Amino acid sequence: MNNFEYKNPTKIIFGKDTIEKLTNEIPKNAKVLLLYGGGSIKKNGIYEQVKTALKNVEVIEFGGIPANPEYAVLMEALNVIKNENITYLLAVGGGSVIDGTKFLSAAAVYDGDTPWDILKNSIRTQKGMPFGTVLTLPATGSEMNSGAVITRKETKEKLSMGGPGLFPEFSILDPKVITSIPERQLANGLTDAFTHVLEQYMTYPVGGLLQDRFAESILQTLIEIAPKVMEDPTDHEAASNFMWSCTMALNGLIQQGVPGDWAVHMMGHELTALFGIDHARTLAIVMPSHYIYNFEAKKEKLAQYGERVWNITEGTQDEKAKAAIAKTEAFFHQLGIDTKLSEYIKDYEGTAQEISKRFTNRGWTGIGEHKSLTPKDAENIVKMAY
Ligand code: NAP
Ligand code: FE
Repeated sequence: MNNFEYKNPTKIIFGKDTIEKLTNEIPKNAKVLLLYGGGSIKKNGIYEQVKTALKNVEVIEFGGIPANPEYAVLMEALNVIKNENITYLLAVGGGSVIDGTKFLSAAAVYDGDTPWDILKNSIRTQKGMPFGTVLTLPATGSEMNSGAVITRKETKEKLSMGGPGLFPEFSILDPKVITSIPERQLANGLTDAFTHVLEQYMTYPVGGLLQDRFAESILQTLIEIAPKVMEDPTDHEAASNFMWSCTMALNGLIQQGVPGDWAVHMMGHELTALFGIDHARTLAIVMPSHYIYNFEAKKEKLAQYGERVWNITEGTQDEKAKAAIAKTEAFFHQLGIDTKLSEYIKDYEGTAQEISKRFTNRGWTGIGEHKSLTPKDAENIVKMAY
């Protein structure tokens, strides 16, 4: 196991009817900017619950943060923060609203000229404007981590940022929010969380025995509750397990002391940037090809995953590893998620070369857990995913 230091300062408030507890978490003298997305919270009652809980603090609102939080829209919110002397941010939404809020937390204290530089130059935020979240969509884990991914339409870019100053102070996780989530987003959430675990688990050498078993238990839980959540989002036990699994998948715990791959996310982000495909779906497109392309390096871990998570007991190590990839793809298909780029867009020729070019231009000459995958490898993997 590698050395590590681990601190996660986010307070989690979990359970039915916990949104009212917002009242206790926000400083009484704060001037709050309430940030939300396209308006789902106004239809499902979450907005009302939040407003009721905030009735004793000064609140200004900023709605309209789109899925794949857009830089230009966030810059409008940044103006509000500055003009209104906002002191506290509250994100009410899924990964997009929370990530957008993290960008604002960083940008609000950034003293450079162009906040895009935080993303372009990977500037880490040591201390941002304080913020909390009310999670409305289990998926990304953003509610308990310090990373964010921001999109810029103008340049068709989607870049990551982060830093120890970007953990939410608190996150409220009420599994009841699941009842209003459309099937497509439930499937996305399951797929994104599943992939987060795999990115931290499907690495070599094998060595973090406890981290492996944490990871496997999250994968097993997601597999068990997926059909229940899809069939009946009012099933509170299934919803609770879904929500907590998504948070645990990316709150840093399973990443400690072990290498992280993240190549699937890096290639996937480009597919969202280029074509607007939902984040989770881009992962389902890239992942099978990534594991087939890197089969020799990853096969020991793939076979372990097959045995322990999918109960594959027959066959050689190679056969178990291949069966594990097939099982994963079948799981995505069961959720209604296609796993080939050509199933999403017609005009895909040249995509692999474009991604390779972008990686080269950004100096991303080696990705994956050993920084050994070159832009040419990424090109080959994306081509396999057509
Ligand atoms: P999302 O983009 O936040 O939301 C997707 C859609 O679901 C939106 O249209 C939203 O509508 C709707 N929605 C959310 N909650 C709902 C509810 N309770 N009822 C009905 N509709 C609801 O989805 P996401 O998958 O959570 O976030 C994806 C983003 O997170 C991507 O940009 C991805 O790159 C990023 N990401 C971040 C991390 C991280 O660690 N920071 C990790 C993985 C991915 P409204 O807009 O109307 O609310
Ligand atoms: Fe993700």
